[in-house]
Amino acid sequence: MSIYVTKPYLPPLEEYINYAKDIFETHILTGQAVSGPKIKLLEDRLSVYLKVKNFQMVTNGTVALQLALKALDIQEGEIITTPFTYVATTTSILWERCTPVFVDIEPDNFTMDVKKIEEAITPKTRAIMPVHVFGYACDVEGIQQIADEHNLKVIYDAAHAFGAEYKGKSLLSYGDISTLSFQATKIFHTGEGGACICKDENIHKKLDLAKHFGFDGTNYLCEGINGKQEELNAALGLAIFDHIDEIFARRKHVSDYYDMLLKGKIARPKQQENLKYNYAYYPVLFENEKELLSVFERLNKNSIYPRRYFYPSLNTIPYLKDKYECKISEDISSRIACLPFYPDLTDTEIETICGLI
Ligand SMILES: *Cc1c(COP(=O)(O)O)cnc(C)c1O
Repeated sequence: MSIYVTKPYLPPLEEYINYAKDIFETHILTGQAVSGPKIKLLEDRLSVYLKVKNFQMVTNGTVALQLALKALDIQEGEIITTPFTYVATTTSILWERCTPVFVDIEPDNFTMDVKKIEEAITPKTRAIMPVHVFGYACDVEGIQQIADEHNLKVIYDAAHAFGAEYKGKSLLSYGDISTLSFQATKIFHTGEGGACICKDENIHKKLDLAKHFGFDGTNYLCEGINGKQEELNAALGLAIFDHIDEIFARRKHVSDYYDMLLKGKIARPKQQENLKYNYAYYPVLFENEKELLSVFERLNKNSIYPRRYFYPSLNTIPYLKDKYECKISEDISSRIACLPFYPDLTDTEIETICGLI
């Protein structure tokens, strides 16, 4: 049997049916100006669990980023961001007609290098969009300080940060807005889905209106989009959420077991001291690309498929107008991989993978 880099978690089917049952009775599949009852219930449960307020489910993590830019009135200008992330971060900026400006990353934990932000600021800079990549916390205090000094907004692409805490607070509570993705491969998922979490109550209301076509049920108040999530997705999310403790416990076990078997044999990122890690991914760093490719070849021959994640460094993608050099991100991208990592990966499978590495 093949082992892939991730395998979406699924709850027992009866439990999903149990949540989906009343949708089949009421025929409420979604809403128009307000989200349906299952979405509301899931929003409540998740915001309590994550200890954040102003929590808003949306269609996916990419739309969450686009809505965040819209809600903060950022319609053009430059957004300082990281090249070491999934392409959705960059492309949501471009889709909103803004310009991504890349700042290189820290070699230890691959988050944006705060020391390099100021030199990237110009009169056109509107916001900073860093990523808590693999669940590692950005220097949230350093970033906020720069944002305050230069009057910039901060939007965290927190797609990997579900459940992570920094200095005893949810990592999602930093910045003006944090966005989540609930796509099937993420720690917690609804098949497709996402969320925006914001500090300010007014921004929260703006987001709510924007994702419902700018329609409040009576009047068309502003430009909007259809960014709302639907009820069957929420039913899946509710059924998965009932297992969230077990999901985290299993992820921790898999991570600890990899650590034990690979200790001293392969380089690993350095976690920040005040971070309560969420075991989002299991990235490893090879000496160079050649070594990575030869290990991949061996694993692939045994039907094991880790992933080059993130590759390439996004400052090098062909459709960008401006060229940036991000030496560290380009180096890390060329030799990093994420090993198979999901709750029901067995000890035997982990032993096989580590043996081959
Ligand atoms: C998954 C992901 C996204 C996009 O989320 P979707 O829900 O797939 O649209 C954005 N940023 C990062 C860093 C991601 O990993």
